[in-house]
Amino acid sequence: MIKYVIGNWKLNPATLADATALAHAISLASKQASCHIGCCPTFLHFGAVKEILKDSSVWVGAQDVCAFGKMGAFTGDVSATQVVDMGANFTLIGHSERRSYHGETNVVLADKIRHAIDVGLVVVLCIGETKTQYDQGETLAVLDEQLSVLHGLDVPKQQLLIAYEPVWAIGTGLTPTVDEVAITHRHIKANLASQGIDDVGVLYGGSVNDNNAKELATCEVIDGALVGGASLKAESFSLIAQAFS
Ligand code: PEP
Repeated sequence: MIKYVIGNWKLNPATLADATALAHAISLASKQASCHIGCCPTFLHFGAVKEILKDSSVWVGAQDVCAFGKMGAFTGDVSATQVVDMGANFTLIGHSERRSYHGETNVVLADKIRHAIDVGLVVVLCIGETKTQYDQGETLAVLDEQLSVLHGLDVPKQQLLIAYEPVWAIGTGLTPTVDEVAITHRHIKANLASQGIDDVGVLYGGSVNDNNAKELATCEVIDGALVGGASLKAESFSLIAQAFS
């Protein structure tokens, strides 16, 4: 399976000039990597970044889409239809920062997934346990509950990727061992298979950097990486992409 390395820029960078410079650097980096590369700029920078990457192989994705509808009276929202019209290939759904800061539950996430799938986006569904849940040995049960959002949605496997991101590893410099990630990814794949969804890529996310990417990439059940902080530095992102190539 081809591997994926996706940058989640979150609410960065501060200026359009920095966002476009990063897009140009990623375009160059993509020529040195054979994995599938993607990036998720803010909505404000999306159009300019897509314009720079439109003739490259780099996917440009949304960080989120509106749950309520595709158009209408939803102040402050951006819809799946609009991001596709702007050239988006995929969208993140259920990132832990959306779950914690915006209180997103499976009910809301199911609506987002439905809208995204309807308009042809690939959904990168982000799941992961908190530190307390990890310490209490609840990781696999938490992931099962988060994956239950897919029940009854009939998501085509070509439109789905899972990003396993332990909340305690995001932006902290902490990571589970590769063996722990492997156990978790096998569990996620088994869960998906039990829902009739086979051959879906499962990415790891949480403090991936150019030092640990090589070891993660050697594991056969880690199908790529979702990268936050290190995706804002073109050189690090490029090295991570090379590790997964
Ligand atoms: C993320 O937020 O998706 C992420 C993985 O962040 P970081 O790489 O900075 O831990």
